[in-house]
Amino acid sequence: MVATVGIDLGGTKLLAVRVEDGQMVARELFATPGEDFMDSAIAAVREMWTDDVAAVGAGIAGLVRYPDGVFVWGPHVPGTNIPVRSILEEEFGVPAAVDNDANTAALAELHLGAAVGRTHALLVTLGTGIGGAVIADGDVFRGSSFAGEWGHMLYQANGLQCDCGKRGCWETVASGPALARLGREFHALNPGGHLAKILQKGDFSAETLTKAADAGDETARGLVSQVGAALGQGLCSLIAVFDPELIVVGGGLGSVGESLLGPARRVAADALHGGSHRPLPPIVVAELGPEANAVGAALLAAQSVD
Ligand SMILES: [Zn+2]
Repeated sequence: MVATVGIDLGGTKLLAVRVEDGQMVARELFATPGEDFMDSAIAAVREMWTDDVAAVGAGIAGLVRYPDGVFVWGPHVPGTNIPVRSILEEEFGVPAAVDNDANTAALAELHLGAAVGRTHALLVTLGTGIGGAVIADGDVFRGSSFAGEWGHMLYQANGLQCDCGKRGCWETVASGPALARLGREFHALNPGGHLAKILQKGDFSAETLTKAADAGDETARGLVSQVGAALGQGLCSLIAVFDPELIVVGGGLGSVGESLLGPARRVAADALHGGSHRPLPPIVVAELGPEANAVGAALLAAQSVD
């Protein structure tokens, strides 16, 4: 039996799991790390630790140099150039594997989730921003290290301000905050409308809006559909570049399902070059839920001791 621990270090969460022979057997969610996220990361690993743990993995939101495991920078996680892999190896005395969180999620979907049996697939994670990972020839493709950061593809020149410091990135129009912004804008124009009752407490979160859409609120459905259309336009570009067999959409907003993915599929199919001569690859919801990043990190760690 191989036991490994994986952690997911995101902008708004820290989750640790223990995986034995490819199956998650324990999980724990911790408070969002502060400025020194390594202290929190080490404490999280320790909570899952037993003496038979053979390796430790981490998936971090941002640019991670692989396989060195150096967290270079990320718009949602503090710190730069932190040697996470070597810190974990020194602390726990076992091999560590550290990668971008979308890459670890893709590994989890490839081995346990929606992409099982696929050779070429893309993972697009929708949350605070857009993350991504490429599965090529049955494994994660990283480029020099940072491939799949398509949340920051230029979507519109001189467009909306992005958390990365640039303007007009794809994630400014197709992410949780993008949906929340549409909700605020609509509410400012229609303060007495039906949606206003749902948003009366000033909760413009993507979660509130998607719940309203799922409950059949037409206005909320329209807003989710707008984000879905922007999602579809970007997916069309990714299909043109990678020609995947399958696109898996994960992350908090990705779990919304058809109210988002239906419009995305329609827009992508319309915009795809040669679209009448080639099928649109299936665009499906990820299967592993909020544990995907951490479970994938644990699987990546297991690879380092195979
Ligand atoms: Zn950006």
